[in-house]
Amino acid sequence: MAGKLQDRIALITGASRGIGYAVARGFAAEGAHVIALARTSGALEELDDEIKQAGGGGATLVPLDIRDGEGIDRLGASIFERWGRLDVFIGNAGILGPLSPLHHISPKDWEELVAVNLTANWRLIRSLDPLLRASPAGRAVFVSSGAASINTPFWGGYGTTKAALEYLAKTYAAEVAETSNIRVNIVNPGATRTAMRAKAMPGEDSDILPQPSELVPLFLELASGGCLDNGRVFDFRTWKQIH
Ligand code: NDP
Repeated sequence: MAGKLQDRIALITGASRGIGYAVARGFAAEGAHVIALARTSGALEELDDEIKQAGGGGATLVPLDIRDGEGIDRLGASIFERWGRLDVFIGNAGILGPLSPLHHISPKDWEELVAVNLTANWRLIRSLDPLLRASPAGRAVFVSSGAASINTPFWGGYGTTKAALEYLAKTYAAEVAETSNIRVNIVNPGATRTAMRAKAMPGEDSDILPQPSELVPLFLELASGGCLDNGRVFDFRTWKQIH
């Protein structure tokens, strides 16, 4: 039986662990060919093994630091040469950075937060837009956070980059709405049992948190050609439009 993403080509950033890993596995199981990007090659190879064992659409591994803008441009060119299009782009990779007062954040940490959480996604849009336009139903999903809209002390570095990411994604959604078949949306996963959450909340009982795999159905819906929503933020907990 054909999967929900049968034969769709899907790039997922931050696919080496956590939410991105689960989404990559889930998409491949539904027939997508997954282009899995992260820095940690060994973890990407584990993902590849799991996808091969489970069957499905297979994977192409891209060990890359998304701060490498020229590397992103080369990735776009490689996708064009191999497939001539991209059907799904999941902009998931992110870092937490230091949880500290704004005036204690070092310039190095600030620049890394902006580079990974924001600039890389702009650079990916720049490189991937022609490929998404070449798809009959290009879909982009960016992974934000509740921190984008709640001004919590000490979360200012992370929250600022996620608020800017939402602005970027909504603007891209507005730009593509009339001129293409692309649809662009945003997911706020809420607290999820991953390494990032454990770093943010070290004393928390992680057993009470949802597993990353529980998010997969929402991502499947937003990645499918049938999704006509555009420029919206989906909160996993309510799974409905909140903006
Ligand atoms: P993890 O820390 O578990 O995973 C982060 C992923 O991003 C890893 O695959 C990591 O791969 C990748 N990544 C980080 N930096 C880079 C880089 N420079 N280049 C390439 N890849 C990079 O985090 P989560 O799975 O928890 O988070 C996924 C997304 O969900 C993030 O955007 C996060 O902000 C968001 N989110 C998470 C929440 C939660 O409770 N978990 C809540 C709200 C939002 P590698 O290190 O191998 O490069």
